[in-house]
Amino acid sequence: MTTVLAELTNKTVLDRYFRLGIPDQKCQAMYVWIDGTGENLRSKTRTLNFVPSRPSELPIWNFDGSSTGQAEGSNSDVYLHPVVIYRDPFRLGNNKLVLCETYKYNKQPTETNNRWHCLATMKKAEKFHPWFGMEQEYTLLDTDTHPLGWPKNGYPGPQGPYHCAVGAGKVYGRDIIEAHYKACLYSGIEIAGTNAETMPAQWEYQVGPCEGITMGDDLWMSRYLLHHVAEDFNVVACLDPKPILGDWNGAGLHCNFSTEAMREANGLAEIEKGIEALSKHHHQHLKEYAPHEGKDNEKRLIGTHETSDMYTFTYGVADRGVSIRIPRMVEQDQKGYFEDRRPASNADPYKVTEILVRTVCLNEK
Ligand code: ADP
Ligand code: MN
Ligand code: MN
Ligand code: MN
Ligand code: MN
Repeated sequence: MTTVLAELTNKTVLDRYFRLGIPDQKCQAMYVWIDGTGENLRSKTRTLNFVPSRPSELPIWNFDGSSTGQAEGSNSDVYLHPVVIYRDPFRLGNNKLVLCETYKYNKQPTETNNRWHCLATMKKAEKFHPWFGMEQEYTLLDTDTHPLGWPKNGYPGPQGPYHCAVGAGKVYGRDIIEAHYKACLYSGIEIAGTNAETMPAQWEYQVGPCEGITMGDDLWMSRYLLHHVAEDFNVVACLDPKPILGDWNGAGLHCNFSTEAMREANGLAEIEKGIEALSKHHHQHLKEYAPHEGKDNEKRLIGTHETSDMYTFTYGVADRGVSIRIPRMVEQDQKGYFEDRRPASNADPYKVTEILVRTVCLNEK
């Protein structure tokens, strides 16, 4: 079945059509939004008769929210409010990807629109200049949901040779990673790097440092690009935090965080103050760090496989079995940032960055 689907299209023929020019003043705008699961993305496209340069120039649009878990069938229109414009790496030219917030018929944000209050918090904390760098881990799957390149009747050899590896039999799916990296750079996403991860077919890319709301915006759009690029290769990008049970690493969304004071001389004291504040609200934070009030992290944060167990708050220098890690370089320089290792790969970056700022900068929780 899956091979038949793949053969239904022909990328070489498609490329001829992608090279067709469109009239100068026209633009295809792909509106992208987070659906009712709070994890998946949706998109649809409209033609504009101008090339937009600011989100405020773009029309508010709507969609059938009853088909995305965002509204009742009898009152189904959900509004799309454009918030960030990116260059479109698929359609090229003047075409755009448009990140949107979702609002209900009564102008209230939908349940999975976590951006609006994240933005309000970031505005309150502007003077701290909060920077984030997120490490998005994920697993490539075949369309039959088996990890890409794994033997169909069994497992690859144990973990050890795969992290940052090179060579057939150790690395699965590099084409997708390369395409996605370039697509992010083209779009204007602040992608910082990439590496093969500890479990075969598992990968990571980093986005950042980004200040304030841009962290969530760029990370969500980078996920959209990831799913789209993987689709082009007929492969699935899976953000499940523990896709394979047993002796295989889970997937996280480590969040590196700093304020201006942490980045300045002797910022380590500020970093320690921040960690002290975090230690008082461990369980509250865990609720924000994975879907379903944190439940999605239960199989991952077990105290092995480079995690600390979810019941204990721990921190340390250069230790990857803790909740919060201070990188060795930061200790040496006595300034920089800390790494919160708790967020799951499928966490909402708006929630993660907001709670960090509320706790560390605003003393709100
Ligand atoms: P790890 O050693 O945990 O694998 P990575 O190199 O994968 O770390 O990711 C580190 C991330 O931290 C990068 O995204 C980088 O942009 C980000 N970063 C670097 N400096 C800062 C800072 N001062 N504040 C916040 N994030 C930072
Ligand atoms: Mn229709
Ligand atoms: Mn990393
Ligand atoms: Mn990693
Ligand atoms: Mn990390």
